[in-house]
Amino acid sequence: MSEKLEKTGGCQCGQVRYRARLDPDQAYLCHCRMCQRATGGVAAAFINLEIADLEWESGPDWYASSPIAKRPFCSNCGTPLGFCFNEGENIDITVGSLDDPYGIEPHWHFASETIHEAWIDMSKLPRKPIKEYEALNQKWIDATGSVPE
Ligand SMILES: [Zn+2]
Ligand SMILES: [Zn+2]
Repeated sequence: MSEKLEKTGGCQCGQVRYRARLDPDQAYLCHCRMCQRATGGVAAAFINLEIADLEWESGPDWYASSPIAKRPFCSNCGTPLGFCFNEGENIDITVGSLDDPYGIEPHWHFASETIHEAWIDMSKLPRKPIKEYEALNQKWIDATGSVPE
């Protein structure tokens, strides 16, 4: 177990905010169909932590995704924020909802039966930076005067 990190995070619109103490060794990918549907992704990138180490500063809303579990999300912008069994002491939060998700590495695959294999090792695909997509950058500049991070 690594030393716990203090991290903040939230949804895309800012309505939901949280503060977490987490062990980066507890990061993993869930490939189950429920998580694929709940996030719209090919897998859900989660970090598992103790509920006691998570403080919701505002929000979230909860969706009862099955008789045994629920998922926090933002009712305004729709960001999926995690997963939690109805009974238990732990919760998953989505890696992408952290303010600084960089440097956190996955340590295992869960629900490996439904892995989208073609989406596991994508390191050889060509890379296209946003900054080279001039039409998109111009849309941002026209709308807001600058390009967001
Ligand atoms: Zn939101
Ligand atoms: Zn899952």
